[in-house]
Amino acid sequence: MTSSTDKGILLQMQDYSIHDGYGVRTTIFLAGCPLRCKWCANPESHTTNSKLIYYKHKCKDCGKCAAVCPKSLSPTTMERPNPSCDACGLCVNACPNKALDIACTQYSAGDIVSRIKRDAIFFRFTGGGVTFSGGEPFGQKDFLRTLAHKFFSMGIGMWIETCGYFNFSEVKDIIEMLDHVFMDIKHMDSNIHEEYTGVGNELILQNAVKIYEMNIPITIRIPSIPGLNLTEENIKNTAIFMRKHMPKAEIELLPYHELGKAKYIALGREDSFTTFTVPTKEALNKAYEIFAEHGIKIGEYS
Ligand code: SF4
Ligand code: SF4
Repeated sequence: MTSSTDKGILLQMQDYSIHDGYGVRTTIFLAGCPLRCKWCANPESHTTNSKLIYYKHKCKDCGKCAAVCPKSLSPTTMERPNPSCDACGLCVNACPNKALDIACTQYSAGDIVSRIKRDAIFFRFTGGGVTFSGGEPFGQKDFLRTLAHKFFSMGIGMWIETCGYFNFSEVKDIIEMLDHVFMDIKHMDSNIHEEYTGVGNELILQNAVKIYEMNIPITIRIPSIPGLNLTEENIKNTAIFMRKHMPKAEIELLPYHELGKAKYIALGREDSFTTFTVPTKEALNKAYEIFAEHGIKIGEYS
């Protein structure tokens, strides 16, 4: 399954979202991500390959899924990922308990635009619009460009959530159409950044500054983990960087959570799930105070 100008791979579309920007929004989650953050709560977003997800806790062992599989597989007990399973989805439709699902589905730009047209009235009355998320939305840049041009011509506002790891010159024309960018700076130490995400932070920091210099409103986000990046040193270093290079940008701290564990289990990847400490409200407030002391405005969207 491939991404192109007119077709792309989505994890899902979420209507009536109120957490990804102003007003009522439709969030379009594009599959695929160049990072492998050890705390990632959406492991199904790592690649654009369609895959079968199995939620064991919803399964009643009725056997209806295995009965319809053309490959004679048993979706509940087979090894996952399974090269024999082509994610045809027949077992998903046969399951009466919603214990199975397919992650990463191909959509055409036309399908998505039709659905957005239906929601446009809510955008108009609430100041909302579309938010592109992922995965990493710039990873499917050609499809994203097609969608952005269509929504721009329809007068629909667009925000984006990005990990920041992309070739700026290849997507600058898309960024010019956006109303707001959320970008993660996960750690100011590039070696630690690489250890926990698979890539260094240089490109991300450069891209954050380039977007800021385009006068596109930008909110820096930190997926906040005590002892890793929610430390006084890292928070201060992030605040100093922002004060120097992007003083009018906002900061938002996203507390680490363990909600992704069920997805690792459903994908048969429980071994890759790493547990971190959930931050306290006090630790988050202390970090916000440091940003405020450096003159950085707090963004509150989540
Ligand atoms: S998705 Fe299709 S091939 Fe895969 S287990 Fe289900 S029915 Fe079989
Ligand atoms: S059809 Fe659904 S509930 Fe029945 S065995 Fe398969 S996954 Fe479990």
